[in-house]
Formats: sequence, structure tokens, C-alpha cells
Amino acid sequence: MHKDLLRLARAERGVRLHLACCLAAAVAAGLLVLVQAELLAGVLSGRFAVAALFPLALVVASRGLLGWAQGMLAGRAATALKSALRRLLLGRVEGLGPSYRSGELVTLAGRGLDALDPYLTGYLPSVAVAGIVPLAVVVRLFAADLATAVIVVLTLPLIPVFGALVGWTTKAVTERQWRALARLGGHFLDVVRGLPTLRAFGRARYQASVIRRVAEAHRTATMRTLRVAFLSSLVLELVSSLSLALVAVPVGLRLLSGSLDLHTALLVLLLAPEAYLPLRAMGTRFHAAMEGVAAADEAFAVIKPSQGGREKRPRAVRPAPAAESGPPRIRLEDVVVRYPGREEAALDRVSLVVEPGERVAIVGPSGAGKSTLLHLLLGFTTPAEGRVLADDADLADLDLDEWRRRLAFVPQRPHLFAASVADNIALGSAAGPDEIRAAAEAARVAEFAGTLPRGYDTVLGERGANLSAGQRQRIALARAFCRPAAEVLLLDEPTARLDGRSEAAIVAATRRLAEGRTAIIVAHRPAMIELADRVVRLDGGVLVPPVPARSGEAR
Ligand code: ADP
Ligand code: MG
Repeated sequence: MHKDLLRLARAERGVRLHLACCLAAAVAAGLLVLVQAELLAGVLSGRFAVAALFPLALVVASRGLLGWAQGMLAGRAATALKSALRRLLLGRVEGLGPSYRSGELVTLAGRGLDALDPYLTGYLPSVAVAGIVPLAVVVRLFAADLATAVIVVLTLPLIPVFGALVGWTTKAVTERQWRALARLGGHFLDVVRGLPTLRAFGRARYQASVIRRVAEAHRTATMRTLRVAFLSSLVLELVSSLSLALVAVPVGLRLLSGSLDLHTALLVLLLAPEAYLPLRAMGTRFHAAMEGVAAADEAFAVIKPSQGGREKRPRAVRPAPAAESGPPRIRLEDVVVRYPGREEAALDRVSLVVEPGERVAIVGPSGAGKSTLLHLLLGFTTPAEGRVLADDADLADLDLDEWRRRLAFVPQRPHLFAASVADNIALGSAAGPDEIRAAAEAARVAEFAGTLPRGYDTVLGERGANLSAGQRQRIALARAFCRPAAEVLLLDEPTARLDGRSEAAIVAATRRLAEGRTAIIVAHRPAMIELADRVVRLDGGVLVPPVPARSGEAR
């Protein structure tokens, strides 16, 4: 069984119990085949009286009952395990930061984990049966007829051998299928989100063709998986049919010559197929189960803390330095940040010290790594090399929730929720109505809040759809103003979408807000830059040494 899944199944009580009962039911039903064959052979050969038909019917009925119980228990175990996995996945989403591809995550948590059903309800029980029933059948055959038993023992291993040979290629093929599906999901979500933009730029049609191409890749991969699956069942079918012929022909001949009695012959003929059946069933279910295994691998890769680069929290989590001590000194030491799939580093050996209470403006062309620097301080990304220190404590060792409580962050593209304006500003903080109002005042939300149908109680559309970009930006700023306890301000181009008048007001408010706090502000506009004590220039992920004299835009 999948190692991580097994560990999870053991840890969850509901899963453990249901799974154990399900496997027991499957094995019991498999073993009842022995009794059934015994009785049937006895009745047919006339050794048992016709009255033996009654226990025979009982055995058949209990096999049906066990099959039903197995299906139900497996379904319950699968549901419990999937919801445990989804819970873990969603718990991790918070810590992933904004750089993770959300579309792929949605595919994984939804459709992807559902692929575990065939694994848990079909494959696992068949593995349990295949492990026990053939063995029991062979033991019985040895007791009944040595020659047959020897043939079965010699041919039985052929099925797993051929199955493994086919399965060798299957793994790669299913993984490709799963990757194609994840890409399709990710791309689709991306396109749907950006549809207005795409239409405005006349790229909607082109995107349709891209989706068609990705879908085609998925179709091809699926067909390839199916082909392999069909091929493998054909091979297994052929092997077991030939093996059965090897058993049946000598039995028939010996029956004719009289060296074998009818009862034994019947018993052998009824039992021999039951030795091959579980292995064949396991082989056919293997392919359907592989997609679930690929999805489980993917899920555990997300759930386990970043295996790439550095471990996120290798040592015991230390509490963030005492909040009483005022704003922390932030230090970056030779920090390198690499995004997966990117050759060049987004930040390359950046060293920077920001003193407590200092206001630093970060400037540079787009793509320079400015947002990455802020994400680093937020713990959304982790450095591949170097360290980020807050008052001499490595961010990697800190409790990130506690650390983020000391920060106020306004992202470059703030996300608004489908909730009221007031709730969007408070964002779960304990701020009362007065504090919310004051923050709205400072961030110039009050100006337009009055014109909304229900003022601060107006419920916004998804992603703040019914507001302008500037209005959304101001609500995001109000969030920062609503966190008076925050000691570090991280603002990512807070005035990028504002007109001159609102900008001047925001700059003034930011100046007030930054008092007694450390502020790191990614800025483009001169008004915001002038507010800073120091300007740091980034270009291509590298810190550009300060130019002593003001030389305009020259780098
Ligand atoms: P800035 O904010 O200065 O415009 P960013 O910090 O957003 O720049 O990006 C720096 C570089 O890292 C850019 O080349 C950008 O394309 C790349 N980058 C940013 N985020 C990601 C991501 N999630 N995955 C891959 N590359 C990224
Ligand atoms: Mg940016």
C-alpha cells in the first residue's frame, strides 16, 4: 500500500476500522469459495445428499452479503480518508503563499482525490484477497490432487510476472495522464479568471485553441492508459486461460482412464480457476487505481513541508521575539530566491539591513524582484540560500502565524472577498466599528463608501467586482490602517492605481501610519519615494549600489 496513505489511514480511527473490516470481509468472501466448491463438487458427484444444497445456498448467500458489506465499508473508509486528506490539503493552502498554482490545487483536491476511490474500494481489497485466497486454494489442491497442485503452483507466478512487466510501462503512462489533467485544470481556471482581459485584447479565441490543445493532450494520455490497461487484461486473461487448460486437460484424461474419481476431478476443476482469479482481478484493478496513487503522491507533496530547498521548520518552532521590544531589525543575508521552473534567481545574493523604525523605499523596474522581497519577509517564499532574520531570529525557525501578526501587508493586487466593506477592512481582526471607520477615513475609503447602496455594509462582488481598481486598493490599505498593533508595514506599490489627489492623501496617511514602525514600501511614484529615509534599488534580482548624487532615472 501507498506508504503515506497507510500512515494516514492508521492515524484516522474511522478509516482504520472500516478499512480493516472491509479487508476482512473481502478475504472471508474469498475463502468461502473453498467451501462452496467442496459442497458443489460433493452434490454433483453424488457423494453428498441433495440436502447439501441447503448449506450451499447459505454459502452463496453469505458471499453476497459479505460482498455488499465490503463495498459499503470500503466506501466509508474511502470517504473518511479523502476528507482527512482534503482537510490536510486545505490546512496547508494558507502556508503556501500566493505563488502556488491554485487551479492545479483545485483539480487535486476535487477530482484528483476522487480517483482514490477505485484504489481503496477496488484495488486494496483485491490485494488482500490475492494475498490469501490463492494460498488457501493451493493448500486444498495439494490435499486433493498432487499433480494439479504442482501445475497450479508452477503457472501461478506467471500472472504477477506478466502483470509487473505491463505495469512497468503503466506507471509512466498514468503519471503523464495525471499531469495532463492537472495542467488542463490549472490552465482552465487561469483563462476563466482572465476572460474579460482576454476578450478585450482579442485573445479569447486563441485561448480556446490552447485549451483544445491541452484537452487533446489529456485525451491522448487517457487513451494510452486505456490501451495499456486493455492490453494488460488481455495478457493476464491469456496466461490464466492457458494455465487452466494445462490443469483441465490432464484431469479429463485421467478421469477417462479411471485413475481419478469424479469428486476429486470436479473439486479440482472448480477450485483451480479460483487460484488465478484474485490475481487477475488485482491486475485489472491496478490500472484504475494508479491515477489515485498519482494524485495521492501529489497531495502528500503539497502537505509535507517544502521538500525542495530548505525544510521550512527543521527545529522546534520558536515564538517570535517579544512584541514588547518594538519594531524588529530585519536583516537579509545573501538571500537567493528561486521559483520552481525558473533558471535565473528572482533574488540573487541580496543583503540588506532595515533598522527598527526605518522607512525604506524599494524601487526598480518590474520583474526586478520587489514583490518577491516582500513575500520573503512574509514567509510566503523561503530562501534557497542565505537567511532572513528578524532581531537575530531566523524566519525559518519562527512561528509564521505569530510573526505575520506583527506585519501589515498591502499586496500589489489585493484580494477582496465577497463580504461587506467593513468585514473586508477588518478581515477577522477584533477591530470595532469605530476603528474600522477611522481606518477607512485614513485610507480614503470613506469618500466612496458613502455612495455605495448600503455604505459600509454593502456586500462586495466576488474579488470586489463592483469596485474600481483604485477603490479596491484603498480598501486594502484600510486593512493595514486597521491593524494598529502591526510593527512592520509592507506595502507593494500602494498608490499605483490612484489619481493624484487620492495619492497625496494616502502618502500623508502612510507617513502617519509609519511613525514608530518599520516600513518597507515598494514604490514607483516620487511622492511615495520621498517619504522614505532610504531608497534601495533592485534590478534583475540584484541590489544596485546607491548612487550618491541624485541622477534622475539613470541606473
Ligand atoms: P517585481 O515585483 O519587482 O515586479 P517580482 O518579485 O514579482 O518582481 O518577480 C521577480 C521575478 O520572479 C520575475 O522575473 C517574475 O517573473 C518571477 N516570478 C515572480 N513570481 C513568480 C512565481 N510565482 N513563479 C515563477 N516566477 C515568478
Ligand atoms: Mg511586484
